[in-house]
Amino acid sequence: MSRKFAGGKLIVASHNAGKVREIRELLEPFKADVDSAAELGLPEPEETALTYIGNAELKARAAATGASLPALADDSGLAIDALNGAPGIYSARWAGPAKDFMFAMKRIEDEMRGHTNTRAHFICALSLAWPDGHCESFEGKISGHLHFPPRGTKGFGYDPIFIPDGMNVTFAEIEPAAKHAISHRADAFRRLVAACFA
Ligand code: IMP
Repeated sequence: MSRKFAGGKLIVASHNAGKVREIRELLEPFKADVDSAAELGLPEPEETALTYIGNAELKARAAATGASLPALADDSGLAIDALNGAPGIYSARWAGPAKDFMFAMKRIEDEMRGHTNTRAHFICALSLAWPDGHCESFEGKISGHLHFPPRGTKGFGYDPIFIPDGMNVTFAEIEPAAKHAISHRADAFRRLVAACFA
């Protein structure tokens, strides 16, 4: 039996503006009173775990303890089959300290040279932690293929090079609502809602 979110304030344990915006939009129907870790000036813990869920739990627990409130964290990334799952949990780090995703997408384009298999997957782990250390975690996924050069200006991160299965446009070319209907984050979110917000 999962622990339920009792309502009221919820911290989104992220300093990534794109993620915070998407999580706020996904949380809209649940009337949670959302603040982000960045708005509260909470520090960003180092992501030392080797799995998406491990890193999401570490971020959620740090924010829940720091703010004495329930906190929701996302750890996500792009796993490319031809690169043995890279950049994976290191997706943010491939953008360097300047968080330059044009640079990160160029690195992927360079590393993909000579590969014909463009299959890729976005993966998202969501962890909801309480100040007493209890944590509930869920993982979601969407599969598709890579496209170069990057296309589209919506979304964030690697969206301009990812075409989800069943579409012929990138995640950066579709409206946020269309992305929320199918994304890895929405998939993880559905599992979280079923367990903790029902
Ligand atoms: P982290 O979870 O903070 O380690 O960062 C995950 C990184 O994966 C983000 O900075 C993005 O680069 C990438 N990523 C995760 N989700 C998405 C998405 O929905 N679209 C595009 N890029 C994403």
